[in-house]
Amino acid sequence: MKPIAKSSKLANIGYDIRGPVLDKARQMEDEGHHIIKLNIGNVAAFGLEPPDEIVQDMIRNLPHAAAYTDSKGLFAPRKAIVHYTQEKKIPHVAVDDVYLGNGASELIAFSMNALLDSGDEVLIPSPDYPLYTAVVGLSGGTPVHYVCDEQSGWLPDLEDIRRKVTSRTKAIVIINPNNPTGALYPVSVLQDIVEVARKHELVIFADEIYDKTLFDGETHTSIASLADDVLCVTFNGLSKNYRSCGYRAGWMVVSGAKRDAKDYIEGLNMLASMRLCANTPGQLAIQTALGGYQSIKDLVAPGGRLARQRDLAYDLLTQIPGVTVVKPKAALYMFPRLDPKLYPIADDQQFAYELLAEEKVLIVQGTGFNWSQPDHFRVVFLPNADDLTEAVSRIARFLDGYRKR
Ligand code: PLP
Repeated sequence: MKPIAKSSKLANIGYDIRGPVLDKARQMEDEGHHIIKLNIGNVAAFGLEPPDEIVQDMIRNLPHAAAYTDSKGLFAPRKAIVHYTQEKKIPHVAVDDVYLGNGASELIAFSMNALLDSGDEVLIPSPDYPLYTAVVGLSGGTPVHYVCDEQSGWLPDLEDIRRKVTSRTKAIVIINPNNPTGALYPVSVLQDIVEVARKHELVIFADEIYDKTLFDGETHTSIASLADDVLCVTFNGLSKNYRSCGYRAGWMVVSGAKRDAKDYIEGLNMLASMRLCANTPGQLAIQTALGGYQSIKDLVAPGGRLARQRDLAYDLLTQIPGVTVVKPKAALYMFPRLDPKLYPIADDQQFAYELLAEEKVLIVQGTGFNWSQPDHFRVVFLPNADDLTEAVSRIARFLDGYRKR
């Protein structure tokens, strides 16, 4: 039989968070090695289980959750999301503007697929959550990366954004709070981005999946609350704020210039219909979660487990010679920089392989987030304090050896 090749559509598509280095880690685990995983924001896998009321509700609902629902989702969770948009001051959202999905991931793919024609450009942050670059490419569009500036705490570089707008630019993606940097954008930056979008008639895609995972008493502003005359598509879900990645419960809210987007919205509706509906048990968890006890607050408050782990990872990493880190204000990640003078890394995937092979610690290399230089990596600070301390001491030992090469 002839070899069966993958589609050429996948030629330039990557998703390194679950890429070849993870395959190697799995193989090592199969051989009996214990790997410390700092690679994925899979919250419940680190003993940070979802709030009990969500789990109990899921169990109670399961016997009645076997039917398909409306393609956009059940009314009650979508109504709860409308209330949530009101709290976030996003104007004029109706139930009909809310789509439920199997995680935000599915809806991110819809939103690009429904919009893009071959050659259409989408502005995406660098570093990014790499799903955006991948789905824009798969949808036939061209990802164009704008730089987030480490010197300014990883805020989007507005000049770079303005420089990169062309007649083919259709949209801009904002990930706020940010994965992988942990940045949280001030209102002034959001307003500047809205101004660019307004001037060039761009759709704003706002990923706000970490909007409650905020440290140091910070608050989050939805960019859609500042842009009632620009089309905004805002993504959120239960995965992170409610520690239920596996329930695959996400949503998307269309707001702002809806009247000018009737055709696009028809496209979204068609894609939602084609996959029938999001999983019903996951949909049913949403109303309980949004109306219930907001337990993430305890974890991120000073002294809370996630806040302590963030501080610990930051303190330990920044003690390593040549390692600098912008302290995250939000989310679950940090994106340390390795001084190229001390660590002349040519291929950061190879660097990640070597760290894994020598020290059994799994990280994701910075280029996996469409960062252009091989001088960063991402860690999650979800493991408990003992595992984090052990992991960073192994990273320090590996880097010590690297400097002496
Ligand atoms: N958006 C961002 C920024 C993420 O970091 C992730 C997962 O890590 C997702 C979306 C995916 O969310 P979901 O589990 O709802 O598909």
